[in-house]
Amino acid sequence: MYILLMGPPGAGKGTQAAMLVEKFDIPHISTGDMFRAAVKEGTELGKQAKACMDAGQLVPDSVTIGIVKERLAKSDCKKGFILDGFPRTIEQANALDSTLGELGIKLNRVINISVPADELISRATGRRICKSCGATYHITFNPTSVAGTCDKCSGELYQREDDSEETMTKRLSVYSAQTQPLIEYYQDKGLYTEIDGRQKIDKVLTDIVASLRGE
Ligand code: ADP
Ligand code: ADP
Ligand code: ZN
Repeated sequence: MYILLMGPPGAGKGTQAAMLVEKFDIPHISTGDMFRAAVKEGTELGKQAKACMDAGQLVPDSVTIGIVKERLAKSDCKKGFILDGFPRTIEQANALDSTLGELGIKLNRVINISVPADELISRATGRRICKSCGATYHITFNPTSVAGTCDKCSGELYQREDDSEETMTKRLSVYSAQTQPLIEYYQDKGLYTEIDGRQKIDKVLTDIVASLRGE
């Protein structure tokens, strides 16, 4: 199953991807996670990505396309993937098309998780992530049983620097200008499904799975 997960920042892509990974046993490829790992390692890529992420801007297409191409060439992608947060521009979508063409892969479905802007701000500002295992929570909408501690591994939770209200507002305007046009791009290819992301986490998953099964 080759799945592309789209949606504005904070829509619930990572949350759904984690559940889809378990369900379909395919790799989760998140460009945001890849950039955060590079920042942590302090590589050149990490330094460049950090400056863009802190400003709420996209990392340049040439850089982003390069790392995704490399990742998609790995053998675990032969059984499928969940691509989360890529493509985010038309240029990235065109590059993805040609890379998938070279690999002989056809996307099964493009899922867009749709959530209104005001809700996205509260989702992002309340988001908390486990330092050890990367699990995502929300202080109100999906809290851990002990505040500040991961339910899965007892790791410590942290807040992403770019999840401030100010940076989030910038990210939302970048989304509207650069990523929203991809909706029409994938509608034209007949691959597009919109899911109501305001629903509870489990219901969003049920709707995504139904769409993937062609129901
Ligand atoms: P969210 O899902 O909350 O938008 P991500 O973790 O997907 O956050 O992305 C965090 C940041 O990483 C983005 O704001 C952007 O700076 C960078 N980034 C992630 N994916 C891409 C991409 N496909 N193209 C360019 N920049 C990206
Ligand atoms: P994205 O990867 O699209 O940026 P996340 O999956 O990280 O989004 O979710 C953003 C925040 O919203 C997290 O704190 C998450 O726990 C919370 N969240 C995810 N899905 C829902 C939902 N359906 N209802 C309420 N909160 C949600
Ligand atoms: Zn954890």
